[in-house]
Amino acid sequence: MQQTIKTTTDYTGIGLHTGNKVHLRFCPGLPDTGIIFFRVDLPDSPCVPARIEYIDNTYRGVSLRNGLCEIKTIEHVLAAINGLRIDNLIVEVSAPELPTGDGSSQIFVELLKKAEIVCHDGCESKASIKILSPVWASTEQSHIVILPSENYRISFTLHLEDSFVGSQFASFSISPNVFEQEIAPARTFGFFSEIEQLRQQGLAMGGSLENAVVIGESDFLNNLRFKDELVRHKILDLIGDLSLTGRRILGHVIAVKSGHNLNLSLARKIADLVCCNALPQ
Ligand SMILES: [Zn+2]
Repeated sequence: MQQTIKTTTDYTGIGLHTGNKVHLRFCPGLPDTGIIFFRVDLPDSPCVPARIEYIDNTYRGVSLRNGLCEIKTIEHVLAAINGLRIDNLIVEVSAPELPTGDGSSQIFVELLKKAEIVCHDGCESKASIKILSPVWASTEQSHIVILPSENYRISFTLHLEDSFVGSQFASFSISPNVFEQEIAPARTFGFFSEIEQLRQQGLAMGGSLENAVVIGESDFLNNLRFKDELVRHKILDLIGDLSLTGRRILGHVIAVKSGHNLNLSLARKIADLVCCNALPQ
């Protein structure tokens, strides 16, 4: 059944890259409308749907654009919405970049649960994508494939060459409970050695040890929430990216060293199959 939230809920924070203050409000959506972002700081509050056709940029985060309406760093908010199986939602924001919270999806999960997740009155059913044969995308170094499965499972291998971190592997069947307990608290991460270069590019201006795991030369600069927190965060990002198909997915995603670009290549291929009616809707 399609789900939304019962009441509105608010949060104010800063953007990870811009460092700018932003106010966010989650509001109930209507059946079959999906997730829609509204820029309430712009004249006439323009909107952009959280759909793959509106992707604008994927460098160090995913941005959407519809004309003048730009929304940056959407993936952690979308992961929370999708992980909790919310189908229809209005997200109002007062600046171009969504707030980063603590670098994970935890604050957004708390906000959405506080607003009470409910089925729509008419209990409209939700069209999902059931994968019937493998769909994949690859680069020389990274790979992602989705295989038929009765549930939504993600298996991820992370490998950070030239770092003491090395490889991490995790695999989860993504139910709302599993998402909330095992995935949502996993924070974004970066290398200490990259911070200065990112700041010169105008990125990570709001980043700190309060909202990111920082990888040093031989150890992490902050305490981890899970031993394999980094790969869990990669699963979180992937959930956010694949939610841009606009459907719930039944399939087993296996990813090796994948990032936003490759995740979104797979999302496009899945969305194209639905458009061509090659999959049951
Ligand atoms: Zn992330």
